[in-house]
Amino acid sequence: MIDLLIRNCHLPDRDPAVDIAIVDGRIAHLGTAGAPAPEEAREVVDAGGRLLTPGLVESHIHLDKALLTGRVTTTAGTLDEAIRVTGEAKRRFTVEDIQARARQVLDLAIAAGTTTMRTHVEVDPIVGLAGMEAILPLKREYAAALDLQICAFAQEGILQSPGTETLLRRALGMGADLVGGCPYNDTDAAEHIRIVFALARAFDVDIDFHVDFSDEPDHLHVREIAERTVRQGWQGRVAVGHLTELAALDEVLADDVIAVIAAAKLGVICLPATDLYLMGRSDRLNVRRGLTPIRRLLAAGVPVALATNNVRNPFTPVGTADLAHLTFLAAVAAHMGTPDDLRALVDTITTHPARILNLADVGLAVGCRADLVLWDCERADEVVTAQPGRRLVVKHGRVTVESTRHVRWRWREDK
Ligand SMILES: [Zn+2]
Repeated sequence: MIDLLIRNCHLPDRDPAVDIAIVDGRIAHLGTAGAPAPEEAREVVDAGGRLLTPGLVESHIHLDKALLTGRVTTTAGTLDEAIRVTGEAKRRFTVEDIQARARQVLDLAIAAGTTTMRTHVEVDPIVGLAGMEAILPLKREYAAALDLQICAFAQEGILQSPGTETLLRRALGMGADLVGGCPYNDTDAAEHIRIVFALARAFDVDIDFHVDFSDEPDHLHVREIAERTVRQGWQGRVAVGHLTELAALDEVLADDVIAVIAAAKLGVICLPATDLYLMGRSDRLNVRRGLTPIRRLLAAGVPVALATNNVRNPFTPVGTADLAHLTFLAAVAAHMGTPDDLRALVDTITTHPARILNLADVGLAVGCRADLVLWDCERADEVVTAQPGRRLVVKHGRVTVESTRHVRWRWREDK
């Protein structure tokens, strides 16, 4: 018996429309020929020629410090200020408060088509393990709609925040899926990186760094990270977020660093809403965009994901956890408007982050996991250009969200 039959849907790189049959959470049939009869399926959806893509993969978001509008005020709009005022607000976080805000963002993300998410959870002497206690139960609570990966993250540094290493260890013991560091916000970046790699080895987990987040190439810690990745044999298990400093290097130097990134099989996560907002703050004219060079990285074969990072807090004052919005931002801010660029941008919220998160069987082929989104458009480039609605979201082969938009053209009726 077929669990779900989606008839007449367009796939991103394929014409004509196909039928897709899902059995036990996997794609069991895909094509026009030999399509199963509707009576063989428990649920049948007529897609009406709409676009079907893999479920969206959010590779970098902070659920624990989301939705702080009204609690904090900023004036400078810089990264330093964001870290400082959020650190203050964090003193008043409780488990219930973190959970309530996280649930709001999870619901937004799921409605937008996100079926897998990696969230950073801050672990430090200010908030202790409250973030872990809040977010860990949400993994099970949301399991039917979304797979949640938790990265135990040292936002406040490790060496400049004594006790953090022990807390990271405890968070990993509690069930964090991976470990994350922030070497630019510490007194000894090299030692910070060394500790994160040692924790990853001890718990056999992947790593996700916030790295090189400045207008000028002040740090370039990514080189140290790449070197350690290779030395530890962690290729394919390390992601780096922001990496805006790469945009400040001339092309020859940038290509050198990109070659090192590619050789170490690092994944790069661009956070356009935050990076556009926080970078270039000291520029009085010709304000820089502060985005990592997405096209250059993609051309070198590096997987690049676009991710939300923050939702309505001092790091990013806007956001609805809709990954399609980030493709729209990147199309204009990273000059990605050709047909190939637009198509590549859809991969930056689906297959590329899936690679970075080491998710198996993501795609549109027989045997792939049936995590899917049906869009209110026909072609993949329209995901970026037209920001269509999400008609259906499917997780583990079951419809999790169904949404319709009703517009009544009263002015035409009144004629
Ligand atoms: Zn972040």
